[in-house]
Amino acid sequence: MPDFSMALNEDQLALQKWIHEFAADVIRPNAEEWDEKEEFPWPIVQQAAEIGLYGWEFLTEVMMNDPTGVSGVMAIEEIFWGDAGIGMALMGSGLAVAGIAASGTQEQLFEWVPQCYGTVDDVKVGAFCASEPDAGSDVNGYRCRAVYDEATDEWLLNGTKAWITNGGIANVHVVVAVVAPEFGSKGHASFIVPPNTPGLSQGQKYKKHGIRASHTAEVVLDDVRVPGHCLLGGKEKLDERLARVREGKPGNSQAAMQTFEATRPAVGAQAIGVARAALEYSTEYAKERQAFGKPIIMNQGLAFMLADMATEVEASRALVWKAAWLGKQRAFKNAEGSMAKLKAGRTATWVTERAIQILGGYGYTREYPVERWHRDAKIHDIFEGTEQIQQLVISRAISGLRIE
Ligand SMILES: Cc1cc2nc3c(=O)[nH]c(=O)nc-3n(C[C@H](O)[C@H](O)[C@H](O)COP(=O)(O)OP(=O)(O)OC[C@H]3O[C@@H](n4cnc5c(N)ncnc54)[C@H](O)[C@@H]3O)c2cc1C
Repeated sequence: MPDFSMALNEDQLALQKWIHEFAADVIRPNAEEWDEKEEFPWPIVQQAAEIGLYGWEFLTEVMMNDPTGVSGVMAIEEIFWGDAGIGMALMGSGLAVAGIAASGTQEQLFEWVPQCYGTVDDVKVGAFCASEPDAGSDVNGYRCRAVYDEATDEWLLNGTKAWITNGGIANVHVVVAVVAPEFGSKGHASFIVPPNTPGLSQGQKYKKHGIRASHTAEVVLDDVRVPGHCLLGGKEKLDERLARVREGKPGNSQAAMQTFEATRPAVGAQAIGVARAALEYSTEYAKERQAFGKPIIMNQGLAFMLADMATEVEASRALVWKAAWLGKQRAFKNAEGSMAKLKAGRTATWVTERAIQILGGYGYTREYPVERWHRDAKIHDIFEGTEQIQQLVISRAISGLRIE
């Protein structure tokens, strides 16, 4: 196991510089336009693909092929420093990939992950469909059903998924559905819905507070038929798992915990990107803006605010990088992935709110980017497990008790 270190090697520094340039030259200058339009920024994703910053090769070779785990979170922070809405457009397919990786076989990974990204000439996106209109945090409440048709070796999917990033515009939809309702969340399975499958359609597209360039919509599944090989992990493994649940044998909760925890530092890194953007911008603004005959930063009351903001960003990054490293070593002990996401989300929400304060009236207008960053920051307290769900996971991990 390599030692944890926050020192980046030469390759990582070069990667950081390359992504930062794209974020500064392409992502940030386009952020306002796509936020206002509330549309998916296909041309930007295309540009990213052209330079090799979007695609499954980028994911596997640059982000995952790193023994420290830090390259991925470092890359994400830079992208989200550019803009969180466009950032989600670039990273949202990763949710589908994580869903495939969590339950799929090697063969399924190789078949479906590239289809979540398409090619440079024809970029695509993937979607991970778990949440439902009546069940977000409470995964026991999912109603979307998958029923096996033995005669045709097909699964029949029916239900509605809510809040789905890339929902309806994705090439590949990964859908979590109930196969054995009597077992609650232990009776779920994940399915690939291949491109252009009849019966899958987009429901309402949500009008959001922030990350408005990211497409979020309902996904309606109406008698969707998928072939048996689209069940992630395969039928034999599912039958074995359900048999174990039926016999009351415990599942491998330790392995499940390592998988879920490993995706959370990435969300923390997104939040830090937004927070850092706001911190840098408001620091520069405070050095320029004059009041009472001097730059406003010369007042301790304001300079100390910036000092606290910088401290929170650094503390959050330390947690996120450490958690990313623990995730790579599969060495989480006390839900450090959840801790990192919890802390970084709160930091982004707080730092961006303070940035508005520092810009005063200008900060409250759409002429300046800090109000957008504040709107963008808030999602990190909500998706991929709300603040309270992270607290639940952490409190269970540190106590060993089933806290409700
Ligand atoms: C922009 C956006 C993109 C998203 N993308 C995706 C996606 O791609 N795929 C996907 O599957 N989902 C996605 N989601 C859904 C997201 O994960 C859920 O919104 C989130 O899990 C919360 O679920 P909910 O909205 O139903 O809130 P609820 O679960 O109804 O929670 C409401 C409130 O109750 C609190 N609460 C709930 N249970 C407890 C408890 N036991 N103890 C204390 N407090 C509790 C919550 O913390 C929250 O404050 C997305 C959401 C948004 C807004």
